[in-house]
Amino acid sequence: MLNQVLRQIEARQRFLLTSHARPDGDAVGSALACRQILRAMGKDAEVVLFDGVPRIYQRLPFAGDVVHADRVHGSYDAAILLECDGIQRTRLEGLEGRFLISIDHHPTGRPFADVNWIDPKAAATAEMVYRLGLEAGVKVTPEIATCVYTALMTDTGSFMFAGTNAHVFALARELVLAGADPVHCARNIYFAHSTAKMRLLGAALSNLHREGVLAWIWVTQEQMERVGAREEDCEGLVNYALSIQDVEVAAFFRELPDRRFRVSLRSKGQLNVAAIAERFGGGGHECASGLSVDGPLATAVAQVAGQLRAGLSVQ
Ligand code: 5GP
Repeated sequence: MLNQVLRQIEARQRFLLTSHARPDGDAVGSALACRQILRAMGKDAEVVLFDGVPRIYQRLPFAGDVVHADRVHGSYDAAILLECDGIQRTRLEGLEGRFLISIDHHPTGRPFADVNWIDPKAAATAEMVYRLGLEAGVKVTPEIATCVYTALMTDTGSFMFAGTNAHVFALARELVLAGADPVHCARNIYFAHSTAKMRLLGAALSNLHREGVLAWIWVTQEQMERVGAREEDCEGLVNYALSIQDVEVAAFFRELPDRRFRVSLRSKGQLNVAAIAERFGGGGHECASGLSVDGPLATAVAQVAGQLRAGLSVQ
């Protein structure tokens, strides 16, 4: 499949690159790495994201060139969607009818594009982009290595999530040898939180609910507004609930302006939370997934916790 993707890229000139709304480290890192690789291949490539680049990823090479838009304009020969299980996850309009290439490492990934390269064994979508670059004979610059390393570091939860293995460290080593600075990459992500995010964490933890191996936290719109937090400040908060000893599964509920709830699920491995998210129309990985559910909070919690309890009881 890698070769098929490469052939399709070689046959075209102008590319639009995008990823899902509310982009995380793999979404931003893989898109920026892909842009550099395509440009090194002599192609025109532009990254367009619905939500723009979150603050903690703005120091990644070429992050300043990302176009923040809700619609795709212009004539592109193909659009490459990274980390998406459909056009809808990009939230961009104007992708319909274009030649689409999907590159994704989610086990819940679906073949929706003209060419679909889905590899759940890859530690991050950025790893697939990196392999594409190697296959194309592109020299891995320190800038490419930095984007791929940051994606790998964040998608493996700083090399801690299930699935972190010798292969992941071998890849990390290759990237460091190619010029990624692990200290610098980590500092930009883990020692660069906004004050609002820390205050939001305090609010979320004050709502901690523990029930055996389950734990969940939540934040309301009112709490987010009170501390001046943005949507991107919610990234990673769920991990604090998962970090409790003997908690196997954690959930983070975030109230949306329309009173629905975005839910992040995390597991230490006992429960496949991608399967739970899929029941609500979401998706992700066995140990990290996401979904949306109707409010109010009590209803959202009851529905999701009910599925988690049921899932845990049949393990
Ligand atoms: P997060 O909880 O950080 O938003 O997402 C965790 C993982 O689940 C990420 O890999 C993300 O791409 C995936 N994910 C989150 N929400 C959704 C969703 O609504 N649909 C799908 N297919 N995947 C999701």
